[in-house]
Amino acid sequence: MQIIRTKKELRDAIKILRQNGKKIGFVPTMGALHKGHLSLIELARKHADKVVASIFVNPLQFGKGEDFDRYPRTEKEDILKLSQVDTDIVFLPEVKEIYPEGFCTEVRITKNTEILCGAFRNGHFDAVATIITKLLMMVLPDIAVFGEKDYQQLHIIRKLVLDLDIPVEIIGAPIMREVDGLAMSSRNAYLSETDRKIAPEIFQMLSMLRDRLRNGGKLGNLMDWGINCLKNKGFTSVDYLEARDSVTLELISDINRPARIFVAVWLGKTRLIDNIEI
Ligand code: AMP
Repeated sequence: MQIIRTKKELRDAIKILRQNGKKIGFVPTMGALHKGHLSLIELARKHADKVVASIFVNPLQFGKGEDFDRYPRTEKEDILKLSQVDTDIVFLPEVKEIYPEGFCTEVRITKNTEILCGAFRNGHFDAVATIITKLLMMVLPDIAVFGEKDYQQLHIIRKLVLDLDIPVEIIGAPIMREVDGLAMSSRNAYLSETDRKIAPEIFQMLSMLRDRLRNGGKLGNLMDWGINCLKNKGFTSVDYLEARDSVTLELISDINRPARIFVAVWLGKTRLIDNIEI
């Protein structure tokens, strides 16, 4: 596995792969890798000859007071994990390599960035769109894999590549969960022992909601039930619990088309998100 830290080296390595006719798969991450991330690498491998992963904790997508400084950084372990799943290149740039002095361009998406997490994380998705555009331009992959764990992000990136005519196929990967149902996340490392025991209740609640909806339960009543359920289980607060169209992300009041339930909650100072297909 090649470990690359500069854009120049990355471009040179990619050029050779392309000259050799290799199909390139790309998996961008912020590191602190878990099995969810590794499942994306494995999926990329199924669609491509060579797999490039990136690890970059993007400062611009963290708002004021968010967890940029304390975000877990486990580079040595990450490199080992990536090499064990047959990654070909890992790109580990420093912040100044990505945002040299004078950087002043932003990719802004004007639809579906103000809902769900966007309503609580000002400018987050524009910063995500900007870094993903830059990384796609650097890696020039044929396919790129993103997790359904961050479903709104996946949706926005699909729109981004469509609108900007970036020639890459975006592939969504299913959510990987711990045995107790908690969606794997680098942020789970923040949870205290007590909070870690409460956290799986998110998926328990989502699964019950899904089952009740499938059995004809009324959406409005069930959403109220879901929010109360989370509060009673000990979550500090609920940012949102919403049912939306899986394709357009429009709010829905009836489950009469492919839909998902989206949730974001706080457990102490840790914000967790999850979603489920109905
Ligand atoms: P992150 O490092 O959190 O930015 O995530 C990098 C990629 O991994 C994103 O496409 C995420 O959606 C994806 N990802 C994170 N957690 C999971 C999970 N539990 N299952 C599947 N994909 C995930």
